Amino acid sequence: MASFAAKRLKIPDRRAIGGQHPETLARCEAAQFPIGAQDRQWTAQPFGVDHLFSHNFRILRPLHHLSKHNYFGQIGYMSNFRIGIDLGGTKIEAAVLARDGTEVFRHRVPTPRGYDETLRTLAGLVCEAEQRVADQASVGIGIPGVISPSTGLVKNASSIALNGHAFDRDVSDALEREVRVENDANCFALSEALDGAGRGHRVVFGVILGTGCGGGIVVEGKVLQGRHHIAGEWGHTPLPWPAPDEVPGLRCWCSQYGCLETTISGTGLARDCDGPGAVDARNIPARAAAGEARAQAALDRHADRLARGLAQIICLLDPDAIVLGGGLSNMDHLYVQVPALIGRHVFSDVCTTPILRNMHGDSSGVRGAAWLWPAPIS
Ligand SMILES: [Zn+2]
Repeated sequence: MASFAAKRLKIPDRRAIGGQHPETLARCEAAQFPIGAQDRQWTAQPFGVDHLFSHNFRILRPLHHLSKHNYFGQIGYMSNFRIGIDLGGTKIEAAVLARDGTEVFRHRVPTPRGYDETLRTLAGLVCEAEQRVADQASVGIGIPGVISPSTGLVKNASSIALNGHAFDRDVSDALEREVRVENDANCFALSEALDGAGRGHRVVFGVILGTGCGGGIVVEGKVLQGRHHIAGEWGHTPLPWPAPDEVPGLRCWCSQYGCLETTISGTGLARDCDGPGAVDARNIPARAAAGEARAQAALDRHADRLARGLAQIICLLDPDAIVLGGGLSNMDHLYVQVPALIGRHVFSDVCTTPILRNMHGDSSGVRGAAWLWPAPIS
């Protein structure tokens, strides 16, 4: 029986999916997949699972040898594949990881506006991904918000229609399996801690410096959620050791004044350099390199503010490594100026915390979401 949510959303019974009935596959695709066939952009898989498929993935070859995986209630630990989904404000990206972490597929679609349509789109992505690997997979989803432990509803999601919904329950219901949902910055930190730049470090603090500013803490390979699921929400703490002209600071969308996010995010850097209304910081390093004093001064202020913010993290958490991600993480001043400035604010004789550039780039969101399911025992 399809679940209530699956019926409400007109999602077909998924237990028949798994490579055995072409009609079911076509029905699944027609009902669920949100964009036209001409928009599909599956990337070629880098390792040898091609033999599982015909060239037209809608006509799967018989896969009776995989039938032991065809009962949806039993997947997760036993699955050969993990699906990770990064649910963002403008796009939803899905990737499938093999057991060893190799990415075998990736697909991206625009984020729909409504909540039900978002659930349908996620179901379509999972359906299509499982058709591609001809197997069932565990599913983890990263969202720009968190599930409140007190209400079970999404909170703090600034850009998508999830706030106030029991998203983890609804998406698990729609997909008829347990789906793990985690904050996107936590997914980034998990990805980089497990097999990225932070690999081998016991405590990793991951930072996303993009439109906003997020943070996540991973301890011995596990996300530290905290009592309110806000551990690592560093962007909404105040800029420490402020100069007189830095207080009270700008109003943040979270309603407070002077949050770190208002100055160290990409938007904050752009606004600091080019004034109110500026949002794009990407060309500032090139302008500084070309001799523009205003751009260089903005980078210097940004480095100093980020160093103060990270020094506070080191005093509180003393992580073994800090990994930077997001749109600003390609800027060299983060790795040249910032480490030299942190030490003066850290309550220690030396400060050797490495500030690392992420390894997986834009893939960390989907990879971390996939890794929400633990590594299989093999
Ligand atoms: Zn804030």
